[in-house]
Parts: sequence; structure tokens; C-alpha cells
Amino acid sequence: MIDTHAHINIAPLYENVEDIINKATLAGVNKIIAIGINNKTNLRALKLAEHYPQVYATVGYHPSEIADKLDFITLEKQLNHPKVVGLGEIGLDLYWQKDNLVKQQEVFLKQIELAIKTKMPVVIHSRNSADLIYQLIKTKKHLKGVMHCYSEHEELSEKFIELGFYLGIGGIITFKNDQIVKNIALKTPLKRLLIETDSPYLAPTPYRGKTNEPKNVVYVLKALANLKKISEADLIKITSDNAKMLFSKIK
Ligand SMILES: [Zn+2]
Repeated sequence: MIDTHAHINIAPLYENVEDIINKATLAGVNKIIAIGINNKTNLRALKLAEHYPQVYATVGYHPSEIADKLDFITLEKQLNHPKVVGLGEIGLDLYWQKDNLVKQQEVFLKQIELAIKTKMPVVIHSRNSADLIYQLIKTKKHLKGVMHCYSEHEELSEKFIELGFYLGIGGIITFKNDQIVKNIALKTPLKRLLIETDSPYLAPTPYRGKTNEPKNVVYVLKALANLKKISEADLIKITSDNAKMLFSKIK
């Protein structure tokens, strides 16, 4: 299994990262993509990827981190690293902060252009912003990527698929009271689904509310296999192939 979205480079996971990676390996999670959100965590993701064969990295400026010193020159250099597999986490967030939308958009679009220039896939975060994100990227030719932990409008999910995007399914699919993610997963072709944890956030049942870690992607896989009525083994194969198709630097 590949956990395609885990912040093992961020507290509290970073402090015990070796242990966390080992536990994941024992659970059958043999690859982890460490997702950067700002200068410090981008560098940590890259260092982890250099140190652990099973770890890959992405680098980017998350919409909640744009007060950081934005350094697109370094970002572009990091994207050339053989184990940096994508640009992200980027996106828009109108849940935590609305008053800086102009700046959020500017930083998002700048990184979209960088992704197109460097032919890298993007990892997109959307909170109350899926519509706007869709409007901003729909005309971008040669852009590929994933809407990570996608849990917004069902109708829009199809539009992202039409653009060639993948959808990342996380722990919400295991929540009894959630129907949106289940509906989205049901209507999305298997070829376009990735599994992820978004650790340390969004722990799946039976760890809901606790600190999440990559080993728990197994619960996402089980819930998704059950929903799509296919075997876990087949789903591991399909989602791993999908991840390698999108993040083509993964060996
Ligand atoms: Zn994330």
C-alpha cells in the first residue's frame, strides 16, 4: 500500500518518525509520501526521502502557510530532486482564513505555473474552495494532480475527474455519519482513486480523534474495498498503480 499523503515531517509525527515508518512497513504500507507545507517541512520531507528508501516527498506552500518567506527558486530546485514526486500541498482554504484570498490565489497560481513548467503533478488542498479551484485550473492544459482528501461537492468531483485529476480518499470514508465521501468514492472510477491518511489529522475509525499515522491507511483501504465491492488485494494493486501513474518518479 502507498499512503499518498502523510505529514510525517510535522509534529507530533516527526519526533518519532523512525518508529512511525517502521510500524507502517509492518502493516503493509511500503511507501509513504511525506507532504511539505512550508520551507521548514519541505526541507524535512526531502531529508526523510533521502534517508528512507520507502519515503518520497512533495514540496510546496500550503494556503495556510503563505506568510512564510516564499522562495520559488528553491522550490523549483527541490522539484528536480529524484525523490521529490510532486508539488504540494497547495490550494485554497476559505475555512480558516478568508481575508487573504487574493494572496492565496496568487501563490496558488504561481505554483500551478511552476508545476506545468516542471511537468510535476500537484497535490491540492481545498476547504470551502472547490468551485474556485476548479475555475482556476480548468483551462490549464498539461496539469495533472490529485484533489487530496476530497470531501466537497459531489457534482464537482466528476468535473475534476474530467480534467484528468485523481481523488484522494482518506479516513472520512470510515466515518459512520459521512455519506458525501462514500458517494464520491462510489461514482469515481477505480482508476482515479488514491488512498491516503493526511496524518496526523483525520484518523479513521477506530482511531477517530487520535493522532493519525500512515499505518492507518489500511482502514481506508478496507472501507473503500468494501464500498467498491472488490478484494483488498485488487484494490491495493489498483491504488498503488494509480499512485505510480500520477507520481511517476516513484519506483
Ligand atoms: Zn495535508
